[in-house]
Amino acid sequence: QRLTTADIRRKFLEFFHSKEHLILPGHPVVAPDPTTMFTVAGMQQFKPQFMGAPAVFSEGASKRVTTAQKCVRMDDIENVGRTRRHLSLFEMMGNFSFGDYFKRDAIAWAWEFLTSPEWMGFDPERMYVTIYVDDDEAFRYWTEDHGLPKDHIHRFGADENFWPADAPLKGPNGPCGPCSEIYYDRGPKYGDDSWADYAKTRESARFLEVWNLVFPEFDRQGLDESGQPILAPLPFKNIDTGMGLERVASVVQDVPDFYTNDVFAPLIDKIVELSGRPYEGESSVSHRVIAEHARSVSMVIADGVALSNTGRGYVVRKVLRRASRHAYLLGLNEPSIYRLVPLVVEKMKDGYPELVAEQERVQAAIRAEEERFLRTLEGGIQRLNGLLEELGSEKVLSGEDAFTLYDTYGFPLDLTQEIAAEHGVDVDVTGYELALERAQETARAGSKFGKSELFDAGAEAVQNLPQTEFVGYDQLDAEGEVL
Ligand code: ATP
Ligand code: MG
Ligand code: MG
Ligand code: MG
Repeated sequence: QRLTTADIRRKFLEFFHSKEHLILPGHPVVAPDPTTMFTVAGMQQFKPQFMGAPAVFSEGASKRVTTAQKCVRMDDIENVGRTRRHLSLFEMMGNFSFGDYFKRDAIAWAWEFLTSPEWMGFDPERMYVTIYVDDDEAFRYWTEDHGLPKDHIHRFGADENFWPADAPLKGPNGPCGPCSEIYYDRGPKYGDDSWADYAKTRESARFLEVWNLVFPEFDRQGLDESGQPILAPLPFKNIDTGMGLERVASVVQDVPDFYTNDVFAPLIDKIVELSGRPYEGESSVSHRVIAEHARSVSMVIADGVALSNTGRGYVVRKVLRRASRHAYLLGLNEPSIYRLVPLVVEKMKDGYPELVAEQERVQAAIRAEEERFLRTLEGGIQRLNGLLEELGSEKVLSGEDAFTLYDTYGFPLDLTQEIAAEHGVDVDVTGYELALERAQETARAGSKFGKSELFDAGAEAVQNLPQTEFVGYDQLDAEGEVL
């Protein structure tokens, strides 16, 4: 009997409960601290405890806690449907210690949970880890306590094995520390690269990162006068871990990617049913994007984020419109994403029973937005048809025109290309990119909105932006993160 995603979520909490951890609810997706817009990691709600605040919660007092945390990482959204290891919303299972146990136990329990046949039953011989460059202590535990061969370990610098990534140099301020990440070799059927290749390329189809064990012992306090990071020791050493629930589910269920697991496969089937388009070939990216975004947007709206023209609500609107566009590409020219919501609720309610009461509200919000977006699309199509007629015998639509469609009607390039192609017309992509670049430069000059490696957008930066009417995708987001 293979474990479902919900089984794995329950087992994780049960396992750490058996190690005397208090089970706490995750934080809503609206970030608990101002360093990010959305919650990006399980540790975020515990920053005060890492900094020395008493570990007392409404559920009780405990220096060991465990949670399932919904995380939203907009920086990963371009990879959705493409790399197959990134979701825009995923669940991070975590165990935390506030000055209680440290590295040795954190490593031992992660090893036990993953490799014990009673728990996840991963093959110990296919376990690989990375450690921070000078972390000989972690090296010792992995090799001596658990017999991990030395050539299953890589040492990386702060860009990979520090959390947040590169925190000493880049910030944010606050708790941080070296980390050790656990990878699983999914075997030759997923790729023929080696662990040594991973050290060079930092990409692998075969070695999947499943769990990050972070050892927060520093409080970053900015840079000193000479530009060196100030890393003050925290009052005590902490543990912060994040295991990717959906990634572990892929391994346990031995499915190639999220979209064939027990949560997403039914969503993909439903999209096939609604669109009549089989899940295959190039257009399958659309099925995946729709399935992922439907779940992500549903969960975020259920957590109280309303679609709007600013801040978080704007970002969610962009995500939903991205899904709508893919639905349109599959020939769905009527609202249909809202029809996936009951399936999302069905699959997620084990961990989030409150979803049931929110279902109707979430469906209504998504449906209304789909209707608005489809009207915009229709306007764009009329305009495009007009432009195509004017072309006469030329078979190229100018980049300027393609950009105007995008900018005014939120009409993405690939859709323009698809429709143009139906008329035997090419689109001047270089010209489009130039026009886009010019517009982005103008937008950038007018705002300080930036992008960091991990954190989607400083909440403050977003709050300080002027109110703008939604007209296209990237007005706010000059870096083009979402599309
Ligand atoms: P990656 O290198 O694959 O982008 P990461 O190093 O950015 O992952 P962490 O910040 O270490 O991820 O997060 C802890 C765990 O959460 C990861 O080990 C992974 O299992 C999971 N995870 C991270 N990002 C995603 C995502 N976008 N979708 C699904 N799971 C994720
Ligand atoms: Mg990442
Ligand atoms: Mg990583
Ligand atoms: Mg990681």
